[in-house]
Amino acid sequence: MYATLIQEALTNSGYDPGPVDGIAGPRTISAIKAFQSDRRLNPDGMVGPLTHDALFSSQPKAITSPTATVEPKQLTPHFHQNEFRCCCEGRYCDGFPAEMNSALISALEEIRNFFNLPLIITSGLRCQTRNREVGGIPYSKHLVGNAADCYISGISVFSLADAARQAGLGVIVYQDDGFCHLEI
Ligand SMILES: [Zn+2]
Repeated sequence: MYATLIQEALTNSGYDPGPVDGIAGPRTISAIKAFQSDRRLNPDGMVGPLTHDALFSSQPKAITSPTATVEPKQLTPHFHQNEFRCCCEGRYCDGFPAEMNSALISALEEIRNFFNLPLIITSGLRCQTRNREVGGIPYSKHLVGNAADCYISGISVFSLADAARQAGLGVIVYQDDGFCHLEI
């Protein structure tokens, strides 16, 4: 974890520690040494207190946009907010035009655990513009965080639909496309 933070800090400072993988390999060590040399620290490749302070005080302040007040977060053990991000890819919104309904997320977690398999979200939130673009109905529940399209690899859409109904959700099965629209 600490190695990951160091790698991120090095990357943000313009050094190349290799992939941010939490492993302090040769590339990470040389990046630390390069950083230390530039900062006139003893280039021993070890992150002691001086290097630590130099590394973490040089971090650029996070850029905060007015709409991005909260960082996307883990919602349940198996679902992260990013999985429900609007699929406009940032063209029309910041990805989160609404909050996902927490009761829906709990039900998805329940279904996921019932099959003990990853439940793949193909569409969560949608902003108005994106919804029009994909031909969604004007009052689509995707607009307000009350719907998610999903599938489980290797599980039929009908089994998924049954489990979703058991969990108290409304279901539309898109058999040809191989997913279920689940809503609360
Ligand atoms: Zn959008």
